[in-house]
Amino acid sequence: MSDTVNQHKYVLSEDQMPTAWYNILADLPVPPPPPLHPGRMDPVGPDDLMPLFPIDLIMQEVSTERYIDIPGGVLDVYRQWRPSPLFRAHRLEQALGTPARIYYKYEGVSPAGSHKPNTSVPQAYYNKKAGTTKLTTETGAGQWGTALAFACALYGLDCEVWQVGASYDTKPYRRLMIETFGATIHRSPSNVTDIGTILGADPKNHSGSLGIAISEAVEVAAKDPNTRYALGSVLNHVLLHQTIIGQEALLQLEMAGDTPTLIVGCTGGGSNFAGLSFPFIREKMAGKINPRILAAEPASCPSLTKGVYAYDFGDTAGMTPLMKMHTLGHDFIPDPIHAGGLRYHGMAPLISHLYELGIMDAESVPQTECFAAAMQFARTEGIVPAPEPTHAIALAIREALKAKETGEETVILTALCGHGHFDLAAYESFLNGTMVDEDFTEERLQAALATLPEVQLA
Ligand SMILES: *Cc1c(COP(=O)(O)O)cnc(C)c1O
Repeated sequence: MSDTVNQHKYVLSEDQMPTAWYNILADLPVPPPPPLHPGRMDPVGPDDLMPLFPIDLIMQEVSTERYIDIPGGVLDVYRQWRPSPLFRAHRLEQALGTPARIYYKYEGVSPAGSHKPNTSVPQAYYNKKAGTTKLTTETGAGQWGTALAFACALYGLDCEVWQVGASYDTKPYRRLMIETFGATIHRSPSNVTDIGTILGADPKNHSGSLGIAISEAVEVAAKDPNTRYALGSVLNHVLLHQTIIGQEALLQLEMAGDTPTLIVGCTGGGSNFAGLSFPFIREKMAGKINPRILAAEPASCPSLTKGVYAYDFGDTAGMTPLMKMHTLGHDFIPDPIHAGGLRYHGMAPLISHLYELGIMDAESVPQTECFAAAMQFARTEGIVPAPEPTHAIALAIREALKAKETGEETVILTALCGHGHFDLAAYESFLNGTMVDEDFTEERLQAALATLPEVQLA
């Protein structure tokens, strides 16, 4: 498998930006199990996905081509903030007194303030090309909704967003940014969809979840031939678009003359982690480097470390295809932790597959440790991280402190996938001492796993 792998095969534009995305499906030793139709229980085909996605994205979802060219119209937009900077965290290293070298790839420089526009822009681009007039989506903390609203504004598409109720109530500035970009936003569960009306009647659903918001957005897209749905994580084509992060980081580390021994990223649905790590996993599978690949997940929503590997729905209502993934059960409603972007019951099928193959590891972190790490990071590096990547920073700090004990050569690379300028209420609760670590109980997990769909494969 490794003989055809070549890190320099992708083309560079004159401003040193990669011009192709990397598709890890081309290099996997075993292909991941296929998604299944929720009614028929057989593998979904392109026709099943046509009501939801434009053809170019469906073809990318199933492609096994190693490199997929980024369209010129997308590169033009990427150039506004790409290549994104790779920083060495010298002052953090000093404060920790560690011999480890710590690098972070900063995606907070995008217009939305996170890595999400890396995929919202191509998704809007391909939809525009296919004649779509409106996109619907869900959003948690609001990063994805902001990114899609931005991309739709660029390409003249209408955009309708369902935001998880708990975040809608606590993060009004994200909502205002989404509206500024011209999109319409609803608190989920809403009464503008059938499924939102039904689920919203149960008080346990009042704070909402990504699974419920996805059901609402999918319902609206499925009903209108000119409206399609856009997902901000989990799917193969989303992870593909994010590989621009790792493609750039490979080049930037090469310029810095360094090689990572540890790559750590936070995982909600898995897209920023995949974006950073997949190009390095390619090099690892080719035997050129050997970093440990580590996912950082919240202790209260630990789909990799505590979930099961099973077919499950991507949403609460069971409208999406069944995906083989690490899941806590589509009925699992995580506690309302501050890292809203990590409150998802499942994990990308590709990440779940790599985890099963033993190509990567995962560890979970409680949120108070994350915010303590965020304080140290902000006070040394000057960037206030989004709550999600503080999980990766916390694990990076744990490892840097270990290196101090063992003296082992440690080079850490992490994705600082967004800034936290709209998440200061979370910082307030840490600073005033009211932040708590939510419980993750076995009872709640078992209750949610009891409703996993029964799948008999032909
Ligand atoms: C959406 C988001 C996440 C979680 O999604 P992934 O697909 O796991 O990357 C993490 N961090 C930030 C800043 C986000 O906006």
